[in-house]
Amino acid sequence: MSRLVLDEVSRTFPGVRGGPPTRALEPTSLAVADNDFICLLGPSGCGKSTLLRIVAGLDRPTTGRVTLDGAPVTAPGADRGMVFQSYTLFPWLTVEQNIRFGLREQGLSTAEQTRIAAHYIARVGLEGFERHYPKMLSGGMQQRTALARALANDPKILLLDEPFGALDNQTRSLMQELLLGIWESDRKTVLFVTHDIDEAIFMANRVAVMTARPGRIKRELVIDLPQRASSRAHGPRQRTGPASGARRSGPPNGTSARPRSSTAGAPAAGAAVEAEVAGPSSNS
Ligand code: ADP
Ligand code: MG
Repeated sequence: MSRLVLDEVSRTFPGVRGGPPTRALEPTSLAVADNDFICLLGPSGCGKSTLLRIVAGLDRPTTGRVTLDGAPVTAPGADRGMVFQSYTLFPWLTVEQNIRFGLREQGLSTAEQTRIAAHYIARVGLEGFERHYPKMLSGGMQQRTALARALANDPKILLLDEPFGALDNQTRSLMQELLLGIWESDRKTVLFVTHDIDEAIFMANRVAVMTARPGRIKRELVIDLPQRASSRAHGPRQRTGPASGARRSGPPNGTSARPRSSTAGAPAAGAAVEAEVAGPSSNS
C-alpha cells in the first residue's frame, strides 16, 4: 500500500514585479510505500525543496494533489516529520524542550512528554545535553535534536531536506548511519532530498532522479539489496580527497561493520544513477 502519493503535482511561482513566473516543478508523480527510503536526487534549483514543502503542507501545488493514506494534504501536520538543512530548532528552548514541543502541542501529559523525549534523546545519542540550548551545540548535535524532535511525534513519514548538507564529512557519515539505523530498526518511511549521488545510493532503496529546472522526476532507480549492502559496507564514495579514507564508521546502530573506504561504494548503482543524472532527459 502506498502511504504517500503525489499525483501530477506542479508548482509555478508568480513573477516578481511584473517579471515572468517561475516554473519550479513540472507535473510530477511519485508513490511512497510503507518503509520505503526514497531519495529525491537532483541539481540545485530543480524543485526538490518545493516538492518537499508541498508534501509537508507548507506550500500548495499549482496543479495536482498529494495524499497521505488517502487523505489530501493541505496543511502541515504531525503525521509528517520535517528536518531541514538549516537549523530550525527554537533557540530559546533547550534540547529537551525542543523535542517535547510537538508532544505538548498534542496535549500529552508531562510524564508522557518526559518519557518520549528521554527515549529519543537516547536514540540520537544526546544524553547529557538535555538542558543545552541550540547555540551551545555543534551542527551535528543540532541536527540530532531536529531528528529527535521529528521522530518524537511518531510521524507516518519523515521528510528530510538535505539534512546533513551543512555538516562536515565525518559528522555527515555518522548522521547517515544514525538515520539508517533508526529507519531499519523502527521501520520508518522516509523521503530524503539530496543533490549528492553517493548519499542517495548509500541511503535509499529507491532513488528518484530529477531533471534540471523546471524539475520533474525523470527516472526512478531501485537500489537493490547487493548494491545497498556494498554501498553500506564501504560507505559513500568520497569526493573530498584522501583524508576521508581515514574516517571510522562509528555506527551507532551497527549498520556498517567495516571501516569506510574512500574509493569503494556501490559501483554499479553509482554508474547507473550517474548516467541518469548526467544523461539527456528521457521518458516523460
Ligand atoms: P532545490 O531545492 O532543488 O534547490 P527549490 O525547490 O528551492 O530547488 O527551487 C526551485 C526553483 O523555484 C528555483 O528556481 C527557485 O528560485 C524557485 N523558487 C523556490 N521558491 C520560490 C518562491 N517562494 N518564490 C519564487 N520562486 C521560488
Ligand atoms: Mg533545496
